[in-house]
Amino acid sequence: MAQILITSGPTRQYIDPVRYMTNGSSGRMGASLATAAIAAGHDVTIISGPVQVDYPSQARVIPVITTEEMLAACEQEFPRCDGLIGVAAPCDYRPERVEGHKIAKTGQPITLHLIETPDVVATMGAKKKPEQWVVGFALETEDARFRALVKLEKKNCDLIVLNGPEAMNAMENQVEILDRGGEAVAILSGPKEEVAAGIMQAIQIKLMK
Ligand code: C5P
Repeated sequence: MAQILITSGPTRQYIDPVRYMTNGSSGRMGASLATAAIAAGHDVTIISGPVQVDYPSQARVIPVITTEEMLAACEQEFPRCDGLIGVAAPCDYRPERVEGHKIAKTGQPITLHLIETPDVVATMGAKKKPEQWVVGFALETEDARFRALVKLEKKNCDLIVLNGPEAMNAMENQVEILDRGGEAVAILSGPKEEVAAGIMQAIQIKLMK
């Protein structure tokens, strides 16, 4: 039995006390992976941004809001885990300054100055011990395989799951799992639950001895 950490869902970056930036990630793929990992007999901790989806009751869920909070929770949890599946869609940018009050309309355009948030998977990939593994996801629209492999390398992942934009907020998914040698370990399509079971199977075969 392995201890598996899963990041799931979107994060939010606040602009002022009531407005924030986010994306359409539903957490459904994270929930499906958690279910598949539990069914395979593993212990699952999910670090999740705000979602409506129900996670399996056997999983421990750590709720977070921002990308920085997701990273802090991973820093806390990853050292005692065997592997990380980074399926979350963390918000990549945050306003450089968060207004303390609600920004009032003036009829004029406003400019937001955005800076990058930390990359959770890359930070964990850089810190992983030799016996730990990291699986990342890549959502690509062009040069998909090439870009996914660049991400695998850059984020020091052991496998990367490539999917398209149609995965966002959908019930079904179509993925390719790529290894460090650039080989497609598996090509899967269907309901997210089935795709998740296939991904778990590939992780067990390739990464768990
Ligand atoms: O670079 P890109 O966002 O396309 O990479 C996707 C992968 O990186 C996913 O595994 C996602 O969970 C992870 N990621 C992250 N932290 C970010 C951005 C992406 O962990 N700030």
